[in-house]
Amino acid sequence: MKRVILHDIDSHIPNLALMKLSTHYRNRGWEVRLLRVPRAKGKHPAFEGDLHLASAVFFTDVSRARLQALQDTYGNRIEVGGSGFSLEKRLSPDIDALFPDYSLYDHSLYALGFLTRGCNKRCSFCVVPAKEGRLKRLAYSFDDFVPPNQRNVMLLDDNLLAFSGVESLLEEMIRRRYAVNFSQTLDIAYLSEEKAALLRQIDYQSARFSNRMIYFSLNYARTNHHFADRRDLLRAFGEDCVTVVCIYGFDTSLSEDYQRFHLLRRFRLIPFFQEYWPIRGVPSRLPAPFFDMDLKLMIRLTFRANGYNWEKYLRWLNRRYFEEFGRFYRPLVEVIFRYNYKHRLQWYLDRADWMTDEMYRDFRDSPPGGARTFLAGLGTGRQAGLQASNGIREIAAIFDEAAGMNSDPLTRASV
Ligand code: SF4
Repeated sequence: MKRVILHDIDSHIPNLALMKLSTHYRNRGWEVRLLRVPRAKGKHPAFEGDLHLASAVFFTDVSRARLQALQDTYGNRIEVGGSGFSLEKRLSPDIDALFPDYSLYDHSLYALGFLTRGCNKRCSFCVVPAKEGRLKRLAYSFDDFVPPNQRNVMLLDDNLLAFSGVESLLEEMIRRRYAVNFSQTLDIAYLSEEKAALLRQIDYQSARFSNRMIYFSLNYARTNHHFADRRDLLRAFGEDCVTVVCIYGFDTSLSEDYQRFHLLRRFRLIPFFQEYWPIRGVPSRLPAPFFDMDLKLMIRLTFRANGYNWEKYLRWLNRRYFEEFGRFYRPLVEVIFRYNYKHRLQWYLDRADWMTDEMYRDFRDSPPGGARTFLAGLGTGRQAGLQASNGIREIAAIFDEAAGMNSDPLTRASV
């Protein structure tokens, strides 16, 4: 019997493309094995197969290192696809139309799939316009990806609410009594009273299908007014039942971030802060200056939920601050470690001359004492960074690691 090895490089949820490939090869009588790529460094253990297929969803350093390790192991015997590798390469239409093989992941919590694909907007940080093109209805129906006894459905549609026939799709979800996770968030600009009334009849659920939750996104302060205009519609989804995903670190200044985050706090919406993960050819384009308002106002913000996630944004701010001014801003550091990881604060307290209470004073021409020794202790590669930029950028990039924190930005689920 022939064997195909399917390599999942970085999926956070079962990889839909690999599950369809699994169906395809099982239908042809092949043995199918799934391997989740475990390591970024070192030689990848080789597994025997007649065919090796890999999927990379993300274009991150980690994903690329894993992919490289696979290619080093299998050479031209492995074929790679996925958004993290190519935006053009796609499953053939006949394979794309197959029912996913959920047994590949031994997965039964929910079904996942698309009803529509694409989006007519052109947000620069998003792969959808280049990968999927304009919004269109696919031939798919729920029966093409939802097993008969499955009630939980994770939808991967890019901009479902913008689809002109979305009302009939929402009615179908109601009729089928599905619990639905709108994993890619809904576009508030298309939330009308009629659509909101239909959505309220759906059992909208979190990604774990453990609590009622509906998702929107707020990526630019200029769209704040959509949330203000629809405040009553949002409130009707229920207290603590609306999460709003906010991308940061792409092209917004501190004050633009503040306007968005402050609005969420004011409207009692649950924020989810998500650092921009670079897509191929689109580096972050933060405005200069980024710090364009009183930082203390941002630091004083508090949220009723997702505190750890908020601290991630603050840690990102902390890195940016050090990079731009050559010191850590003490009030910011103290807020970051106020509730969680309190013991990490000591790392900063031990380096008192790396911190300042003077907001926005530029110290870049006078690296903090001990910076050279600190970097020297981390290895020769990092000393090169010290020589290149007084060590400021180098320290900013690694301080989370040095302080014992992992930098693990969360990401939008995708396939
Ligand atoms: S972020 Fe959303 S609205 Fe913007 S292009 Fe991507 S799918 Fe469309």
